[in-house]
Amino acid sequence: MNDAEHVNGAGYVTVRVPAKVNVQLSVGGLRPDGFHGLANVFLAVGLYDEVTAFPADGPQVTAEGADAAQVPLDESNLAVRAARLLASRHGLAPDVRLHIAKDIPVAGGMAGGSADAAGALVACDALWGTATSRDELLAMCAELGSDVPFSLVGGAALGRGRGELLTPLETGGAFHWVFAVADGGLSTPAVYRECDRLREAGGGGATVEAVPEPEASGALLEALRGGDARALADALSNDLQAAAVSLRPSLADTLKAGEAAGALAALVSGSGPTCAFLTEDAASAEAVAATLRASGHCRTARTATGPAPGATVVRQG
Ligand code: ATP
Repeated sequence: MNDAEHVNGAGYVTVRVPAKVNVQLSVGGLRPDGFHGLANVFLAVGLYDEVTAFPADGPQVTAEGADAAQVPLDESNLAVRAARLLASRHGLAPDVRLHIAKDIPVAGGMAGGSADAAGALVACDALWGTATSRDELLAMCAELGSDVPFSLVGGAALGRGRGELLTPLETGGAFHWVFAVADGGLSTPAVYRECDRLREAGGGGATVEAVPEPEASGALLEALRGGDARALADALSNDLQAAAVSLRPSLADTLKAGEAAGALAALVSGSGPTCAFLTEDAASAEAVAATLRASGHCRTARTATGPAPGATVVRQG
């Protein structure tokens, strides 16, 4: 029984929020504000955290799940920052206890912290009855982090700017994925720094500021629209992959193991170290996951389909 079910009439709201995989992550030049310009095609996948908001003197945060020990339980938790931001916008005290049932790998390149921030905004908004408009919620998400707006909307979307300016994308069917979860995370800023370092080292004198503005791939958008897994497999790309592999060379073996097991394509998910494998169908995903689990190349392998819905209230009472 989880905490939500212990509550008796005190009121609570539980929000389910998906992980994401970047099916295209094109990294442009380093901007004066320290962020990189991105063409970032997000796909939400059916691995979820659940964020429950309870009335309490707050903010407080608790976590459960295999990775719970790695979730910060202080003011640095993105869900706590989200609750504080929403409360301050409405002139309220941030009186809430947030309980995170964590199923998204921590520091895994799947936007787990961003998911919890979006979940906390939606849960607190319902708990406090603040009826915040969708546009205001999206603006708060963008303040909290580049990937947070996508966690709110889910589905598939193109993110421009630093990833926060979203255009929803049409998808023509479900895509079947396997995620090889690594032991230990990678720091997203460290992976971007390594990407810049590799570019400067190999760039023939080019500076990291001069990288052209990236564009979404037409072939990739067409593959998503058509629900065509083979075409999507051919169009997948991640400019952070070389940097993630440079920092964690064993990822190259994980990627090869998934391809050898029958995946259509393999790529590092976002800043890694989770590796994502696109497969033909559900049966093939299960087979690839079983082979990866037995291979010793990852801590575990999970299957999930995408697109998945964004932050959604699933229980309240
Ligand atoms: P992204 O894919 O958006 O770059 P990520 O999935 O690689 O992110 P997260 O799981 O969001 O990484 O965690 C990155 C760091 O954020 C963690 O190491 C942790 O210190 C911090 N953090 C803050 N709040 C949370 C949270 N609610 N859950 C997990 N990590 C959090």
